[in-house]
Amino acid sequence: MSATEATYRNFRRASRLVGLGNREELQLITPKREIKVECTIELDTGTIGTYVGFRVQHDDARGPMKGGIRYHPAVDPDEVNALASLMTWKTAVVDLPYGGAKGGVNCDPRQLTGGETQRLTRAFVEGIHDLIGPDRDIPAPDMGTDARIMAWIVDEYAKFHGYSPGVVTGKPIELGGSLGREAATGRGVLLAMENLFAEEGKEVKDFTYAIQGFGNVGSWAARLIAESGGTVVAVSDSRGAIRNPDGLDIAALCEFVARERAVSSYPDADNFPADDLLYLDVDVLIPAALGGVLTRHNAGDVRARYIIEAANHPVTPEADEMLGERGIVILPDIYANAGGVTVSYMEWVQNIQHYRWEEERVNGELRKTMKKAFIDLKESATSHGCDLRTAAFALAISRVARATALRGIG
Ligand code: GLU
Repeated sequence: MSATEATYRNFRRASRLVGLGNREELQLITPKREIKVECTIELDTGTIGTYVGFRVQHDDARGPMKGGIRYHPAVDPDEVNALASLMTWKTAVVDLPYGGAKGGVNCDPRQLTGGETQRLTRAFVEGIHDLIGPDRDIPAPDMGTDARIMAWIVDEYAKFHGYSPGVVTGKPIELGGSLGREAATGRGVLLAMENLFAEEGKEVKDFTYAIQGFGNVGSWAARLIAESGGTVVAVSDSRGAIRNPDGLDIAALCEFVARERAVSSYPDADNFPADDLLYLDVDVLIPAALGGVLTRHNAGDVRARYIIEAANHPVTPEADEMLGERGIVILPDIYANAGGVTVSYMEWVQNIQHYRWEEERVNGELRKTMKKAFIDLKESATSHGCDLRTAAFALAISRVARATALRGIG
């Protein structure tokens, strides 16, 4: 099943619960605009490299469209489409005044030099600059992109439209980035878990964790879990995995990875095959890397009690059903990883106000937003008598449908 089909399946299950008809369903599921641009650059070797960039603008009923730009070899129109739609539902779950979009360039960022990455970014912005903007569509970092790339987007966009830092979020602090944005997705994962565990009178420190992926989201989640007293027993990245049943020293590991770029050569832990991380005997499994990692072929091997979706769509619909039948609680991506876009919103607000918030304020607002969304999510689950993913979709769909109806057909 493709990523778009999987997202549609989750959408449809919930849209029926909130009583949407076929016509409204079609309107909400169909992307507003799909952009595909050729990005040809000169490589450092003097030869030419041609890449394909995508931006899918899914829905803008609730405000300007919002979502990251991904640089990864697996980027294709299907995946970008699914991710754009997930952004519409994510921004609605946490009730931000945004719609949803997503972009990506099919490339392997690890094979590109700094200069090549910059030229590629500028070529991509040249292709899409007329269709993005602070009141239209606001990109942000995602897999394979970071603050440095956002700075080049600001600069390239300025050539066409004047200096306008609110055109992207996740920028360096010096260019109008927000304090707290870099850690925000990982912090949101922590806050989401706090809210979930509190329901059972438990805390983050009461559990053991395995985290797949040690990029921005996975490493920040690990760091904050460890700081809260949780025991992170295993982490992996695209090259390998490490474990220590007594708990990894995450602060030391983060320092090590900043230098060495890979978790697998970290000395104070045992190596094991990265694929096995998903099946470890831990309380909490946190997929924080690619989509579609838990499928009907391997969902039966999961031993964790909770799955916290720090990645976007890590669980296929078939796996979702199998895990649900086994009583494994899944905190869905459109809530669990919404901390990033929530602080992106705060960055954009600061840019519009030409004002800077202190980090405590940012983190405090994030805590409030995640708490309020959790209360709404639980209420949706109770009133519809459904699992948390369906409840999150139902909550989001009803908000987007309401805005769409109020705006009318023009
Ligand atoms: N790429 C992140 C996500 O998938 C953040 C998007 C944003 O901040 O706009 O949620």
